[in-house]
Amino acid sequence: MTHGPLARPVVGVLSVHGAVAEHLDALRRVGADARPVGDVDGLGRVDGLVIPGGESTVLRLAAGDDLLAALRRRVAAGLPTFGTCAGLIALARDIDGGEEPITGVLDVAVNRNGYGRQVASCEAAVRYLPPFDTDGDGLGVFIRAPRITRVGADVDVVATWGDDPVAVRQGDVLATAYHPELTDDERLHRWIVDRARAYHRDNGNEDRGEGRRVGAQ
Ligand code: GLN
Repeated sequence: MTHGPLARPVVGVLSVHGAVAEHLDALRRVGADARPVGDVDGLGRVDGLVIPGGESTVLRLAAGDDLLAALRRRVAAGLPTFGTCAGLIALARDIDGGEEPITGVLDVAVNRNGYGRQVASCEAAVRYLPPFDTDGDGLGVFIRAPRITRVGADVDVVATWGDDPVAVRQGDVLATAYHPELTDDERLHRWIVDRARAYHRDNGNEDRGEGRRVGAQ
């Protein structure tokens, strides 16, 4: 028996800390069944995940070891994931200054607060590279943003600000130094929803999907 494509894939937003509501809204606008995820059980029920911005040290402590270990395992096993700002720091393999990585699944190095005091927070045009350039340039909202200081060989640059990569993708892991959820630019939220739909098609089955949805309410 075959099943049609899942219309509304389940996309979680890690909700232990940070700008959760804006991501839930953005995900719902582009067709996801979006829900907050705060524990290992909840993480097991999603087909895609957003790690929001906030403060990475708080995120690390608030999530705790069990959830971080489960997160590391699921993302490494292919769960489509999108991190913004502190979410980028949570995914990065290296954090400049020798801080322990949080999940370390994305082969980049980041410098926390790497734009310093002068541009601690600002809005700027970011240039999207193919295939993310279909809507032209975008608005980047940078809030004490991490600077990406190294991009691994398997990592594609998605967007730049001046000479700096500010959005990157490695397989189904996407991360931005800025906050697209604070603008009406929906292209990256559309991407995570599309990838979650594909993940569900390849790994899930429609019956389990329906059961999950009822059970999780
Ligand atoms: N500066 C924060 C950190 O180091 C990130 C800021 C943000 O997520 N807006 O975690």
